[in-house]
Amino acid sequence: MKNYGDVMSSSPTSRSTALLLSGLRVSPGDAPGLKGRSTKATLGFHKESAETELLDTRLKIDLLQQRLYAEQKRSVLLVLQAMDAAGKDGTIRHILSGLNPAGVQVTSFKAPAGPEAAHDYLWRVHAACPAKGELGVFNRSHYEDVLVVRVKKFVPPKQWRRRYGHIRDFEQMLSDEGTTVVKCFLHVSKQEQADRLQDRLDDPEKRWKFRAGDLDDRTLWLQFQAAYEEAIRQTSTAAAPWYVVPADRNWVRNLAVARILLYTLERLDPKVPEPETGLDDIRIV
Ligand code: AMP
Ligand code: MG
Repeated sequence: MKNYGDVMSSSPTSRSTALLLSGLRVSPGDAPGLKGRSTKATLGFHKESAETELLDTRLKIDLLQQRLYAEQKRSVLLVLQAMDAAGKDGTIRHILSGLNPAGVQVTSFKAPAGPEAAHDYLWRVHAACPAKGELGVFNRSHYEDVLVVRVKKFVPPKQWRRRYGHIRDFEQMLSDEGTTVVKCFLHVSKQEQADRLQDRLDDPEKRWKFRAGDLDDRTLWLQFQAAYEEAIRQTSTAAAPWYVVPADRNWVRNLAVARILLYTLERLDPKVPEPETGLDDIRIV
């Protein structure tokens, strides 16, 4: 059993963190301006203390996730999107380790097949949304249907363009019905991606992750960036904001996403249910 003692005794997200996060958040209607955003920024974090800070942030997330689970009324959905090798898997491993697996659900979305492909693009996504009390994490998502689908021309422009509206409405519905949605784009540079893909090829433990198709996507880098730019502009809303997270440094990326998740949970402020009355005098013998 963990002793939470004073895990939460330090104040909730400080003003400086709130300010930092507001710099990463894209205001409704604004363009994210990806070209002008650094992929290497350290956000004022320090490498030497980042691990301890991540641990501390995770303990707080853990406590709030347990409350969310106990409350059984609301849920949180964290959506992660990025180019290959930006670190979606690594982020998930680092921010969720140590959480109660019973209350967490991670879903990875690949190219749709079988019944997924036979339905509308939101069908599989809706089915994977977190139940009350759960924290859901999407590794890729319905955004692929306005990203890779657009860039690779899987459907005509008229069809993917309509989807921004569907997505805004869908996420608003989730929010109205008790799911807080928060979305992170892990912003990596083309050079950093080259280094990481080469690393995958060179490392026998990582080679399985490499697909020749990753190189096709890489040659379409600018088209993907343009697709992200528009998707984020069209769908960052008060109910479901986008954050652009610099991702060239893993330790910055992990800590930033953890802080975004913690901030989201703190604002939700889940409460453990009221205990039954009349328990005060009970002594277990
Ligand atoms: P990975 O995340 O590296 O395992 O790769 C999953 C692949 O599935 C990526 O190339 C995505 O672009 C692709 N994918 C995910 N969702 C869709 C979708 N809705 N339509 C087409 N491709 C998709
Ligand atoms: Mg991949």
